[in-house]
Amino acid sequence: MTVTPMMAQYLDIKAEAPDALLFYRMGDFYELFFDDAVAASAALDIALTKRGQHLGADIPMCGVPVHSAENYLMTLIRKGFRVAVAEQLEAPEEAKKRGSKSVVARGIVRLVTPGTLTEDRLLEARAHNYLAAWCEVRGEGALAWADISTGEFHVVACPRVRFGPDLARLGVAEVILPEGSGVDAVVEEQGAAVTPLGRSAFDSTSAEGRLMALYDIGSLEAFGSFSRADLGAMGALVEYIEITQRGRLPLLRPPRREAASTLMAIDGATRRNLELTRGATGSRDGTLLSAIDRTVTAGGGRLLERRLSAPSTEEEVIAARLDTVDWAVRDDALADDIRAILRRAPDMDRALTRLSLDRGGPRDLTAVRGGLEVGGLLFDRLSGADLPLDISNLAGREDLLDLLDRALVAEPPMLLRDGGVIAAGHDADLDEARQLRDEGRGVIAALQAKYAAETGIAALKVKHNNVLGYFIEITATHAARMMERDGFIHRQTTASQVRFTTVELSELETRILNAGARAQEIEERIFASLRTAVLEASDAIFAAARVLADLDVATALADLARGEGWTRPRVDGSRAFEITAGRHPVVERALKRTGSPFVANDAHLTAEDGAAIRLLTGPNMAGKSTWLRQNALIAVLAQMGSFVPAESAHIGIVSQLFSRVGASDDLARGRSTFMVEMVETAAILNQADDRSFVILDEIGRGTSTYDGLSIAWATLEHLHEVNRCRALFATHYHEMTALAAKLAGVENATVAVREWEGDVIFLHEVRQGAADRSYGVQVARLAGLPPAVVARAREVLQALEEGERRGGGKPKAVIDNLPLFSVTAAAPPPRATPVEDRLRKVMPDELTPKAALELLYELKILA
Ligand code: ADP
Repeated sequence: MTVTPMMAQYLDIKAEAPDALLFYRMGDFYELFFDDAVAASAALDIALTKRGQHLGADIPMCGVPVHSAENYLMTLIRKGFRVAVAEQLEAPEEAKKRGSKSVVARGIVRLVTPGTLTEDRLLEARAHNYLAAWCEVRGEGALAWADISTGEFHVVACPRVRFGPDLARLGVAEVILPEGSGVDAVVEEQGAAVTPLGRSAFDSTSAEGRLMALYDIGSLEAFGSFSRADLGAMGALVEYIEITQRGRLPLLRPPRREAASTLMAIDGATRRNLELTRGATGSRDGTLLSAIDRTVTAGGGRLLERRLSAPSTEEEVIAARLDTVDWAVRDDALADDIRAILRRAPDMDRALTRLSLDRGGPRDLTAVRGGLEVGGLLFDRLSGADLPLDISNLAGREDLLDLLDRALVAEPPMLLRDGGVIAAGHDADLDEARQLRDEGRGVIAALQAKYAAETGIAALKVKHNNVLGYFIEITATHAARMMERDGFIHRQTTASQVRFTTVELSELETRILNAGARAQEIEERIFASLRTAVLEASDAIFAAARVLADLDVATALADLARGEGWTRPRVDGSRAFEITAGRHPVVERALKRTGSPFVANDAHLTAEDGAAIRLLTGPNMAGKSTWLRQNALIAVLAQMGSFVPAESAHIGIVSQLFSRVGASDDLARGRSTFMVEMVETAAILNQADDRSFVILDEIGRGTSTYDGLSIAWATLEHLHEVNRCRALFATHYHEMTALAAKLAGVENATVAVREWEGDVIFLHEVRQGAADRSYGVQVARLAGLPPAVVARAREVLQALEEGERRGGGKPKAVIDNLPLFSVTAAAPPPRATPVEDRLRKVMPDELTPKAALELLYELKILA
């Protein structure tokens, strides 16, 4: 049995990328074979067919058309596959020249993985797509990460315990780990892909060399000082990019070393819980980000997400950001102008990266042109304005802008090979080539007229046939006259005609025939030179893009602040936490849609030293969680440099933020809910310090009453005595309110409700003091529990409460003495009258006055 040459080639290539699905280019299709075909056809829901045989068995095959391959790639990447793309590296004719059986040379040009995407269609415009590498050298850990679509490159010291939280902060798509690192589960928990690399990839010495070569410098010191772990992680990252991009490196900016202490630490559980940038389902809906994002450019959107994911702990940084927002709030006319101009700004960062990888098209050049143009407009508009932001980087590359402007048509096609990218008048050769291509006939006609005049033979014709190509034809009678003229070369004599050519004509012919190809070639050459010019200016372009993003974020936050009535927070090194009339931006937005008002609430939690804790009690649904979270969100917003939803806010810088909710189901991770709750609480008690802000919502709910109460109790004491942090603690264990009397830093607070005819009305007002009762039974009634069950619950509750009052009545004794569940109480509720039925269906808010009147008549008839 023989292996066909093509199959042999396929198997060779496949062996280079065993972990990836191989897209094997065949003409207009990418074909997949064997197991790849089986997996891809299932994942993509496309037909699985067969193509020939290999070693006596059918070869499973499926294929996707090249022109729509990106969509398929996206689906596969989302489903966790990696894809190796093997292209044809020569034209089929070239292979034929080598021999009739030769296979077209093919090779992998690119490995597509979740962390190495660059195409706009594969990326979310407003989100970063990070690739990270982590390693440990002698107990010291480091995490390097890059967004190859924008060229950002960072590294931070990252011990094992910080690895999970850091991944959560960045929302990394793919993480490179040394084989056997033992932290794969941490990565998978964050929903990122793990890519193991051999230990040698993390070697710090070769990493240094690799980085120096990448930036073409003799020492890395210019970028800062790096630990061996830093170098190892950065080196592995660069090596992996080289592997996946097959040696072509994107424009990575010089690595920035981040000091972990300059950012508010927020672990994964807290992020999920507060829904900062991703909601419970992983989407942006209902997140703080979606509630505050008014940016108008993709780069601004990404910067906003970055800020929100990593609020600062540096007073000056926060103040500088707030200053810009403040300025944009005050000068709203100018800010609106800026936003109107920014709306036209294309995504320069990503265009630049695609160009650097030689994957860029004409529209990437126009994106740079458009971005620089917007930069220039803004620079002019802002010069003279007194603004707290350095905008000098917006200007200075007018030469490049001018070049791109002159060279490119207004709206070029997607693909360079479609032609028509370079503007007329930019290049004389190109203009001529195009003229020849488009007006070939006209040029020939002109030549014919010229020869006719020169020779005086009016009947002279320039004609074309497949054998001779272009030729000059005259009747035999004039032949002699032509023969004696210089330059006319005899080609053929027929019965009545004689045919000639000239050097000029045959040159013209070649040029006409090749004109299309030539025009194309020139366009490609000019494109390449423009690309080079752009890449040479990449530093300036990235810098301009950064200013655009800064302006976008500042004016977007100002627009939000003005629109929603937010105020500038005071952020300093104190331990204050003073919020007057604070609101929850996401809940408020949701309520606005239903027309109900949001009740603003204060939070006064200042302590000179020691703990400052509010113990919040109140019935379910009263608004406890909302209040807890809104205060955490206000701290995040303030420290990211945004105004906040409150009448006033004074926040002493929070270094770590923790948020936990009792007993949320976490079946996906296969741990019992209570176990999760305890693991997460333990993390807080072990890590929180006196600069931390902690919110704990119903901790201890996941176990029996006494267990739960005891754990909640001990947790609160620990927060007070050991962690000494600022904390908000919501609980339904009323017994705990006694702690306020014992612990100096603990005060009781409650969310007010009013009881009215046996029902509870939620006022959503946070007040001092403890809740008098839990109103659980009333809430259950509101939830629609059958009346019989509600009535019985009241009975049991009453008996239990009385037992307690009579002193020491053990619940068990009380329960033993309860009369049995009575059937009369369980009798079905009286049937609703037709009027009641009709009323239940009425939505008063949706009624027009006329409809309301009609309804009244209807009810009258039913009664
Ligand atoms: P709890 O934690 O006490 O069970 P939640 O905080 O989940 O209660 O709030 C329940 C609902 O009450 C929310 O979904 C929201 O619609 C409403 N709510 C909460 N706080 C407020 C408020 N301050 N103003 C208006 N409505 C609120």
